[in-house]
Amino acid sequence: MIAPHGGTLVNRIAPHADRRLILDNWHSLPKLTASRETVGDLRNIARGAFSPLEGFLGKDDFESMVERGRLTSGVAWTIPIILDVDEPTAELLPNEGEVALEGPDGIPEAVLHLNEKYTYDKEKTAQNVFATTERKHPGVDALLNRGSVLLGGAIDLLEDAMDPYPGYNRPPATTRALFEERGWKTVGAFQTRNVPHAGHEAMQKVILSLVDGLMIQPVIGKKKTGDFTDEMIIKSYDRIIESYFRSERVLLNILPTEMRYAGPREAIFHAIVRKNYGCTHMVVGRDHAGVGNYYHPEAAIEIFSDYPDIELQPVCIRGDFFYCHICGALGSERTCPHDEDNHISFSGTEIRAMIKENRRPPAQIMRPEVFDILAASGQPFVE
Ligand SMILES: [Zn+2]
Repeated sequence: MIAPHGGTLVNRIAPHADRRLILDNWHSLPKLTASRETVGDLRNIARGAFSPLEGFLGKDDFESMVERGRLTSGVAWTIPIILDVDEPTAELLPNEGEVALEGPDGIPEAVLHLNEKYTYDKEKTAQNVFATTERKHPGVDALLNRGSVLLGGAIDLLEDAMDPYPGYNRPPATTRALFEERGWKTVGAFQTRNVPHAGHEAMQKVILSLVDGLMIQPVIGKKKTGDFTDEMIIKSYDRIIESYFRSERVLLNILPTEMRYAGPREAIFHAIVRKNYGCTHMVVGRDHAGVGNYYHPEAAIEIFSDYPDIELQPVCIRGDFFYCHICGALGSERTCPHDEDNHISFSGTEIRAMIKENRRPPAQIMRPEVFDILAASGQPFVE
């Protein structure tokens, strides 16, 4: 079994007895309301998905992450996992000590063991993490909207709520045990934000020819209007795994987190997280976690050569799949010699347009069962 990132799987979920003590003491602590995104980060830290982080980055680790994509210890870390507040809020907090973190709904979520308050250079952070400071990049925009003070310190989560989709939201300790039990020595991770089309299925089956097991891991979180709903993604994957895969070799398990659209740096982050879940391989496609034209399509593949110490093997599928009428099979510009006129592409935009108009995509592109699930739901898209 591949070791967790940094060596130890973090567990910052308060034991039951401590939880009572913390809650008894809750009203005496300074309080902070965490955003939905921050609550997501809290849960991922607590259940070890973000190992070796035990909390939100402190100043030295943050600056080292920005500067060289590694923590001060040298362990790879490429994405800011931070807790931000505005200046007036920061001034009300002590310099160190326990802080009560509540969700947007006022529910107690976690205790922060605050040990540092610090300011940071947003422009430089944006440039190094996202390779741009342009506000129209959604990741940059989110960063620029954050408060100007960061709080560093470990956290203790009160309870692992397991929501949403509890049956599909196994924490890393559970997937690791499951892989062990199933005898999977090598496990490929497939990240997705979409309902499956035939190109995805082809890639997943390539991976299954290389490794013992496959974890298909939809990223569940904030979505844009017009994206497929989380429910549609889970339902349609369930269906095609049942009908078209050796289901004992596949695990469908979500990752509730926000997309940052940091391209190559986010590909490394995704690899670290999948390694914590016990995966030894991960599919890295063209423009992984990219947006617009900010990253070279292969930048997310190339960055792995700077991080040989991650150990997880990126499986790089180069070229875009399409269906070729002359080959009578799926191919890519790396395999098929025929003209474009003979190809049906897997353009996500086109597939979504067809579904919106209730037109069934050709079976070479999408399994009829998937279309049926989407059509039956009436509203497969985020409104
Ligand atoms: Zn062809």
